[in-house]
Amino acid sequence: RTVLSDWQITSQIDVLNEDYRRFNADKIKTPAVFQSVAADVEIEFALANRDPNGNWTNGIRRVQTSNLVFADFTSPKYTSMGGDNAWSRDNYLNLWVCELDSPLLGYSTFPSASMDETDGVVIHCKAFGRIDCNSKKYYLGRTGTHEIGHWLNLIHVWGDEDCCNADDGCDDTPLQAKPTYKCQEFPFTSLSSCNNQPCNTVGDMFMNYMDYTVDSCMNLFSNDQRIRMLAAFNLYRTSLLSSQALIPPTSFSNDIGITKVLFPDELIYGDSMAPVVRIHNYGTQSISSCDIYYEKDWKNYLNTFHWTGNLASDGEVDVTLPKIADSLWNNIFCAWTKDPNGTQDEDTTNDFRTRSYVVRPATEPTENNVIVYPNPSNTQITVEFKDFESLQGSYFVYNILGQRSEEHTSELQSPYVISY
Ligand code: ZN
Ligand code: CA
Repeated sequence: RTVLSDWQITSQIDVLNEDYRRFNADKIKTPAVFQSVAADVEIEFALANRDPNGNWTNGIRRVQTSNLVFADFTSPKYTSMGGDNAWSRDNYLNLWVCELDSPLLGYSTFPSASMDETDGVVIHCKAFGRIDCNSKKYYLGRTGTHEIGHWLNLIHVWGDEDCCNADDGCDDTPLQAKPTYKCQEFPFTSLSSCNNQPCNTVGDMFMNYMDYTVDSCMNLFSNDQRIRMLAAFNLYRTSLLSSQALIPPTSFSNDIGITKVLFPDELIYGDSMAPVVRIHNYGTQSISSCDIYYEKDWKNYLNTFHWTGNLASDGEVDVTLPKIADSLWNNIFCAWTKDPNGTQDEDTTNDFRTRSYVVRPATEPTENNVIVYPNPSNTQITVEFKDFESLQGSYFVYNILGQRSEEHTSELQSPYVISY
């Protein structure tokens, strides 16, 4: 049976805070034509520290169920149906995570004047968080990003109808005929699913969180989506602003944690780095030491640093960790604290943080370490990189007259065949 670790759950919160603040490392993949409408939605997420009865909580409830899977999206929300009753929607965003018998990865209610205890988001456990996910395609937590978009009144970018007339209510997301499932190069050869009609001459925004592409393909909300979400928030969800859920009713004596990964940030260069994390003393007692474990990504070798200093209650300090080797392209940095003052941490849910980042070679590729053949060529060339395995970014193909092809954006694995 599936049991999600606290850290897998924490990693989902990290994804939301990157995607809704546009701190996501893969924002560099947003096509140039959409960079100007890509938005910081300015909403942040955190696990609750106070439950509806005023007691301390880590914001996570694990409930045993006799349901092997849930066949609908309502039963997870009721204890009487094998699920777990909601906490008041006035003070919490409820996320139910469970095995689902559905082709969908998740489901969300929309905000309205008549919301009840079913308000919230259901997510398939295989697509929750960005560490230890079982899904091969939905392993970066974007199902959560997408569903919470619905919870804030966004509809799908294709307007939920199989045509180019249906709109999603956002002017800066081009009209799109249908959902996109496969990650493709932007723009499509045919430019848009609306066959390049005047309604869409730019291309489909299939990398929007509100399309159906795989997690590694998604990287933006648009500015109009942001406006739509904030409008819905201000109309229907303002009670959350006075929620006490983030005010812990009690403190522990020995409780250290990480509030933020300061480095790596989105894009770094070279084959090694010295990470920087901000540690916070959440407990009542001063802390003079702790261990910090860290990884360039979740699956790799464990690095440890023994921190010593003097951190008063509620104090925080930025710690630079010893250098570690890096690997190119997409990574999830992970760090966690352990054993403040040499004793057990009394609240481990705040110990762990993840950060997405992209590594590029210290030396950017030059003509000298790229081989292109055949040369001259007709409609197809092969590109090989001598000193690196892949190249991320955009490229043009020039012909002998110096005429340039359309811009292409994708990750190239060497050798790579370009048709033009
Ligand atoms: Zn959806
Ligand atoms: Ca802690």
